[in-house]
Amino acid sequence: MRNVLLWASTNSFMARRLPRFRFVQRATRRFMPGEELQDALGEALRLEDHGIVTTVTLLGENVSTDAEADAVMDHYLGVLDAVRAQRLDTEISVKLTQLGLDQGREGPVERLSHLARKCGETGIVWIDIESSPYVDATLEVFRAVKAKYDNVGLCLQAYLFRTADDLEALLPLRPAIRLVKGAYMEPPEVAFPAKSDVDANFVRLTETLLRARKDGRAGRPVIASHDPAMVSEARRIADEIGIDPTSWEFAMLYGIQPVEQKRLAAGGYGMRVLISYGRHWFPWYMRRLAERPANVWFVVKQMFRR
Ligand SMILES: Cc1cc2nc3c(=O)[nH]c(=O)nc-3n(C[C@H](O)[C@H](O)[C@H](O)COP(=O)(O)OP(=O)(O)OC[C@H]3O[C@@H](n4cnc5c(N)ncnc54)[C@H](O)[C@@H]3O)c2cc1C
Repeated sequence: MRNVLLWASTNSFMARRLPRFRFVQRATRRFMPGEELQDALGEALRLEDHGIVTTVTLLGENVSTDAEADAVMDHYLGVLDAVRAQRLDTEISVKLTQLGLDQGREGPVERLSHLARKCGETGIVWIDIESSPYVDATLEVFRAVKAKYDNVGLCLQAYLFRTADDLEALLPLRPAIRLVKGAYMEPPEVAFPAKSDVDANFVRLTETLLRARKDGRAGRPVIASHDPAMVSEARRIADEIGIDPTSWEFAMLYGIQPVEQKRLAAGGYGMRVLISYGRHWFPWYMRRLAERPANVWFVVKQMFRR
């Protein structure tokens, strides 16, 4: 089922057809409050009442012209204005293929630099990590921007064999890293096929990040997982090394484990929720279903709801 859903996430015919169905639209509402920026920011405001801060991201990937990439950058510049005007503790997370990575590396370096400059002291501009063929280019863009702006952060995936080495190589830059398990369909040559190996790597990387942060060798680590086992391991490691709970964060996606999100925030942990919005939600939604195929039944139920 996971592979079928990940295959569907890359299928352009389905991406054109399925979002037209009402029941599919209804089902997505559980994971995204709406297609407009204001829908996301409205929820960000509501979550702040529970001590939860947020990151927002405009859905979409792989633009094919510089003009499209510029339009995405302009959109995010507007997001930063809106966040400031509404005094929200909200950061942005961007996909480099949406900032023109398929057209070369210079464009994304410039556009990301522009966003980091505009963001200033108020927060981090996060780089999402995409499928493995993009990892080298993503690291290069990150290094180039980080050399000029400290407020850029990078997501890394625990399912890739290479990530432990990538993290070691990045640590001299004192990077802010968001750690995830990884959401794409990857071949066994590059990624651990077994969940137990991914989990073990996630825990090792969490420990490296939290220790580096404690010793002043890393920016803010964000431990991004809905997995109760990963959350409790991160808490155990944090207790063991005695790291200040305000110097790192947990992160989860909007609509997933909302009770746990509130519980962690109420318990004094930094909790950041990533809220997605925009029209191009189909591939992203298929990846969310692939993470928990049981949710497909939820979609089926929406078919029969009036
Ligand atoms: C803030 C954030 C940013 C992310 N950014 C990226 C990125 O840039 N690049 C990238 O490749 N991936 C990204 N991801 C996705 C990530 O790689 C995983 O695919 C996703 O988080 C699922 O893995 P997991 O750690 O939650 O645990 P899993 O091993 O998938 O699941 C473990 C348990 O968590 C719970 N759970 C997980 N998913 C769901 C769900 N959809 N519905 C209900 N319960 C669920 C269930 O209890 C499940 O048994 C991001 C995730 C988060 C939270």
